[in-house]
Amino acid sequence: MATKKVGSAGRFGSRYGKTIRVKIAEIEKRQRGTHVCPYCSKQQVRRVSLGIYECRKCRAKFTGRAYTLA
Ligand SMILES: [Zn+2]
Repeated sequence: MATKKVGSAGRFGSRYGKTIRVKIAEIEKRQRGTHVCPYCSKQQVRRVSLGIYECRKCRAKFTGRAYTLA
């Protein structure tokens, strides 16, 4: 199945309505993308699991918010 405009929310098919799928796609994009490290200020921080983040540059592991870093 071709990926739709809703990105990662394409897994929901046509369920739940378009607006809410666009919103969740936006949140998931932020969640899976890289964040700025508070220690070395590089854009190298990935979310490890719920609330846990790790910098790929300086290996710092720290907590943040559940889905995004602060
Ligand atoms: Zn760092």
